[in-house]
Amino acid sequence: MSTFQAPKGTYDLIPPDSAKFLAVREAISAPLRDSGYGYIETPGFENVELFARGVGESTDIVTKEMYTLTTKGGDQLALRPEGTASVLRAALEANLHKAGNLPVKLWYSGSYYRYERPQKGRYRHFSQVGAEAIGTEDPVLDAELIILADQAYRSLGLRQFRILLNSLGDKECRPVYRDALQTFLRDLDLDEETRRRIEINPLRVLDDKRADVQKQLTDAPRLRDYLCDACKAYHEEVRALLTAAGVVYEDDEKLVRGLDYYTRTTFEFVHDGLGSQSAVGGGGRYDGLSEMIGGPALPSVGWALGVDRTVLALEAEGVELDLPVTTSVYAVPLGDEARRALFAVVTGLRRAGVAADFAFGGRGLKGAMKSANRSGARYTLVAGERDLAEGVVQLKDMESGEQTAVALADVVAELTTRLG
Ligand code: AMP
Repeated sequence: MSTFQAPKGTYDLIPPDSAKFLAVREAISAPLRDSGYGYIETPGFENVELFARGVGESTDIVTKEMYTLTTKGGDQLALRPEGTASVLRAALEANLHKAGNLPVKLWYSGSYYRYERPQKGRYRHFSQVGAEAIGTEDPVLDAELIILADQAYRSLGLRQFRILLNSLGDKECRPVYRDALQTFLRDLDLDEETRRRIEINPLRVLDDKRADVQKQLTDAPRLRDYLCDACKAYHEEVRALLTAAGVVYEDDEKLVRGLDYYTRTTFEFVHDGLGSQSAVGGGGRYDGLSEMIGGPALPSVGWALGVDRTVLALEAEGVELDLPVTTSVYAVPLGDEARRALFAVVTGLRRAGVAADFAFGGRGLKGAMKSANRSGARYTLVAGERDLAEGVVQLKDMESGEQTAVALADVVAELTTRLG
């Protein structure tokens, strides 16, 4: 193995591509910031029990994919595999839910860790931007979150995504359905691991991609037929609100999602250009999670959008983001005196809000001009001894090739005007 190799299932974000990641995070969070969501940041690791809860249902994320570690002090920690549990834990710890202003609306952005089988779009370290609205049961809130995610994707220029929507029922009707489904599944011809899954998270079996399994599931009891009246009415309201907002979605009865805590509304954003790892984001209601981690009843809803897969989706659709210019002016000094003079100009430009860079290391004109070209700068400033003796610098417009001498004292003002 080479010394210079990122661990398996990870990759580095490096320029210029890294700029896309920043732009995606910005675009996803902008609608949230404009909608009353406050920024929250939690640690990259938590006590392991926050994720490994002793509840009946379990998930692959918790049983197989979590990075756990024991500290030198003997604490059992886990690198966070997802954001929701951490955000809820932090909100409870800070008593945000008691401040009398429900829902508590929060957004976050960060790295998550899952010990997965790496492939394109599926990594062991990945990045999400997420939103949680804690403490309120209101279909408008579910609709708000879906609408904001849709708005975020559209603002990026994405079009080939679809929204899948389902209701998973609540603590009244879901267990009745779960029992009926388990009874049905136990009679099927399934392998050991799937049989185990029937006992811990039977709804996940419906998600099985294998044809021989799907064939046996044709007559499986359907959650839709088991939803209680309250869940049905709630779901209808969410659907109507989305339709009223002009957000197109598809009802998908099979949508279960990988995390164990979802109730009622669940949704996923899928992108058709991504092959097997097509989910770019997802979320739903988690009315029981607060109690599962030892808190009061706090019905909540949230989502997380994957930044890595959103970038892949942009590439799949051929969307070129309108990225901010990194360098507008590039300064090329010829000689020591010019170096000091031009560095002062660059500092002045930067203080005036103009993106400026500099040929460091006393390089020759040819090499320095190559760097100027590569920087994408619109203007280059060149100065040698003779220019300085005349009190000017040469200002070159890299688009037209036109070059003019500008008084050293005026160059910051001149460039600020030219760059608007
Ligand atoms: P989840 O937390 O499983 O609901 O995932 C939410 C979103 O995070 C997914 O739709 C993906 O875009 C992204 N995501 C989840 N797991 C991974 C992974 N292993 N690699 C890259 N992105 C992921």
